[in-house]
Amino acid sequence: MRCAILADIHSNLAALEAVLVDIKERGGVDQIWCLGDIVGYGPDPGECLRLLREQELTCVAGNHDWAAVGNVSIADFNPDAAAACRWTARQLTPEQVEFLKNLPLTLICDDFTLVHGSPRDPITEYMLSVASAVINFARLTTSFCLIGHSHVPCIFEYFPETRLCQIRELVPEEPVKLNGRRLIINPGGVGQPRDGDPRAAYAIYDSQHQTVVHYRVPYDIAATQERMRRHGLPQFLIARLSFGW
Ligand code: ZN
Repeated sequence: MRCAILADIHSNLAALEAVLVDIKERGGVDQIWCLGDIVGYGPDPGECLRLLREQELTCVAGNHDWAAVGNVSIADFNPDAAAACRWTARQLTPEQVEFLKNLPLTLICDDFTLVHGSPRDPITEYMLSVASAVINFARLTTSFCLIGHSHVPCIFEYFPETRLCQIRELVPEEPVKLNGRRLIINPGGVGQPRDGDPRAAYAIYDSQHQTVVHYRVPYDIAATQERMRRHGLPQFLIARLSFGW
């Protein structure tokens, strides 16, 4: 089985389409595992939901998905994120609202736990440090965990003998071997990368070869920015896409 791992699409249809084309060109996948935040920030929440749900999709909730449908408060959102969230809420059909409301916080697929933020705090914790990774490894009932939320592609490895943990960057096209390891992997963000590389990010899990491979995909950033401008979305959210930040 091959699964595409997508996170933080954030209503960026041009980025999502480019990733789906890239997946096809790499021989396709049997399923898409989505780690949440399909919506929020970008100009095409409805279209992104429609396109993703045409795929064989397994998906957990992100904070923006739940904020857009009132499952969680936007009190912690910065003013730009809150404005985009209120705009997003107005674009969704009642059926799409129901879909987002009913997304689970955590799912287990094969030997992977899927969450948006972290195992201990599925939609709010940003897993960026070894200290938080150690605590979260202790919560895991699977060997592997897939996370999004920070939009930064990276890999945490836990070494049970020493109880130490390490963080590394995910290198595009370089297969990560899974066998016998304990890993937490963030594939990076499809629709709003934040590691200084503006290209869309995702990964593919291959169960036969027991690998995860990270990929970067160029997309038409200007097209997304133009659509955001047309909808009056915040200038900062438009500008950051150019820089991957
Ligand atoms: Zn996000």
